[in-house]
Amino acid sequence: SEVKEAPIRVLVTGGSGLVGKAIEHVVQREGGKLEGEEWIFLSSKDANLVDAGQTRAVFEKYRPTHVIHLAAKVGGLYLHMRQNLQFLRDNIKINDNVLQTAHEFGVTKVVSCLSSCIFPDETTYPINETMIHDGPPHDSNFGYSHAKRMIDVQNRAYYRQYGRCYTAVIPTNVFGPYDNFNIENGHVLSALINKTHKAKKEGTPLNVCGSGTPRRQFIYSLDLGRLIIWALRKYKEIDPIIMSVGEEDEVSIKEAVEMIVAALDFKGTIFDTTLSDGQLKKTANNAKLRRYLPDFPFTPLKEAIRMTCDWFVENYDIART
Ligand code: NDP
Repeated sequence: SEVKEAPIRVLVTGGSGLVGKAIEHVVQREGGKLEGEEWIFLSSKDANLVDAGQTRAVFEKYRPTHVIHLAAKVGGLYLHMRQNLQFLRDNIKINDNVLQTAHEFGVTKVVSCLSSCIFPDETTYPINETMIHDGPPHDSNFGYSHAKRMIDVQNRAYYRQYGRCYTAVIPTNVFGPYDNFNIENGHVLSALINKTHKAKKEGTPLNVCGSGTPRRQFIYSLDLGRLIIWALRKYKEIDPIIMSVGEEDEVSIKEAVEMIVAALDFKGTIFDTTLSDGQLKKTANNAKLRRYLPDFPFTPLKEAIRMTCDWFVENYDIART
């Protein structure tokens, strides 16, 4: 008779956030879930992962075999600049609680989420996976960055000491439905979508913070969701993997604003206020991803921005603003 494999239970921390909601969509609406699998999406209401006891209790309750670890204290540039200590301490605790509890419960695979903003401030471009620890991160978010870097260190230690396959992905700037659209604390694209929508509604000019010259690679949350599920199933390395569109698809903030303005049909005046710009560029190289998935179809930015704007307008009442 056939040997039945143990059921697979995937626990997604941060399941109520931008990336978590995208994974949920892929799992439930795009056939991302395989037969016999159970997927559990957690929010901070299920467990405050800063707390070791609550982390343990939630693992006890669901007994996962696999974990996608997305939960993090995250924010926009200006919030990071004001709260480096809090970002450092909360994220160190969340990550240690999740990884160590996963290990103690015999979880066979963990995919955690790093970020392209944790790379050294002074570096050569394009950035690749080997360069994470090569120098201090940008000063504006050093707390968050050092906590994230330690996930990679800890993954290697679990492998070295216990042979665990705990790994990490490194997305560039993510956006999409369910993002934080708050104008002060949100990510750049989503804050700009909210601002543009507001300016249109109120008939006021659109004020864009900063010069518009910094360049970024943006990844649509649903593309990232599909890629993280691929990593959970197929990616066997401990070393992290950058999840990004190609270098040729990097755009300036100004170009992104133009796409938002077109998607929302904003016809008013656009100003820019000189404020801190953040890093001028942080071009990441996706060659490793392309070696594994040469044909992965990234959603074109214009289309992804349009879908995000449509979602924001339709879901304004529930959107985080
Ligand atoms: P969101 O801010 O949208 O979601 C954060 C998630 O973490 C939410 O589900 C939130 O729960 C949960 N969370 C926060 N604090 C705690 C806590 N103390 N205990 C339990 N859960 C908690 O984040 P994203 O989806 O944007 O980010 C997901 C991951 O991707 C993060 O690790 C982030 O660092 C990384 N990343 C994000 C990028 C981006 O551009 N967005 C870029 C690169 C990496 P609740 O809803 O209940 O608050």
